[in-house]
Amino acid sequence: MTQFKVLISIILVLELFGLPSPVLAQINQPRKQIIVIDPGHGGKDFGAVGINGILEKDVVLKIAKQIIELNETTFNNQFEIYLTRYMDTLISLGDRTKLAKKLKANIFISFHCNHSDNPNARGVEVYVSKKQGKYSQESILLAYDLQKGLKENLGFKSRGVKFADFQVLRETVNCFPSVLLELGFLSNKEEKQFVCDSENLDSYAYLILNHLIKE
Ligand SMILES: [Zn+2]
Repeated sequence: MTQFKVLISIILVLELFGLPSPVLAQINQPRKQIIVIDPGHGGKDFGAVGINGILEKDVVLKIAKQIIELNETTFNNQFEIYLTRYMDTLISLGDRTKLAKKLKANIFISFHCNHSDNPNARGVEVYVSKKQGKYSQESILLAYDLQKGLKENLGFKSRGVKFADFQVLRETVNCFPSVLLELGFLSNKEEKQFVCDSENLDSYAYLILNHLIKE
């Protein structure tokens, strides 16, 4: 008898005798997509310090938390979402990727904001691992999709999809699709203003979740 037939037989017996069926429960509830969001920096590592002292570590954490909230309120808990940090604490890059692997993430997204000495520098960038891995292609597709969405829906200038040797990407590209988002320049007046508005942070969160549904 094949394994499948054995499984069906077990289910039939369980149904027949009205016993609680953990097997059935598992079949009826497909595993939710597990998304691990990595808000960059934290604690004594401020990340970029923008106009009026706005800190990258705070902005990225706010967006990440907004995503969790929106998943519950608007997306009917469609995803199982975890953050690599929930507070203003510094977690090592190695521990961030270890956590994502332990959680068996389906997608890993790291959030950052940019900074430049040129106050006119602006736009969003999406990075994928320069090192080739099992999930390079999926990562690149997700990256293109997200930068297109950020450009078309939120009006950001797109600085394109880029390849880099970032540790969080290098250590995950063989395990699941992974991208790193640079969500605008905190050194640019308009983009700094944009992230100071909580409604806009909501738009980021909505856009990102909406794109993950299509993945
Ligand atoms: Zn950063």
